[in-house]
Amino acid sequence: MYELTVETSFAAAHCLEGHPSSCGRLHGHNWTVAVTVAGEQLNSAGMLVDFAVLKQAVREAVGELDHRYLNELPFFSGGMAPTAENIARHVFETVAAKLSAQTNFQVKEVRVAEAPTSWVVYRP
Ligand SMILES: [Zn+2]
Repeated sequence: MYELTVETSFAAAHCLEGHPSSCGRLHGHNWTVAVTVAGEQLNSAGMLVDFAVLKQAVREAVGELDHRYLNELPFFSGGMAPTAENIARHVFETVAAKLSAQTNFQVKEVRVAEAPTSWVVYRP
């Protein structure tokens, strides 16, 4: 089994409405996003997937969030709070859809950190 991870970051604002702490006020984070894919079959170039291909898919997914007010985005409307947990699931589903034509690996997990000491991991 091979695992391959790329990491990127984005800056955005959010507000966790109704949260009793300062998270309930409008504020921002510099989120770090790490996407890991896994598979057993290497391609003819000896790669699970080209880092550049994975980075491009992750950049596109994260680019939709960068420098945005997350509460206003369609994915987070309808009562889904823009928490690190939901951001991780959203990035996972978006990247998995972009790479669905690649059959020798699957997206394994997405890690989203709000700070160097605080992160979540989403695995389906
Ligand atoms: Zn926050």
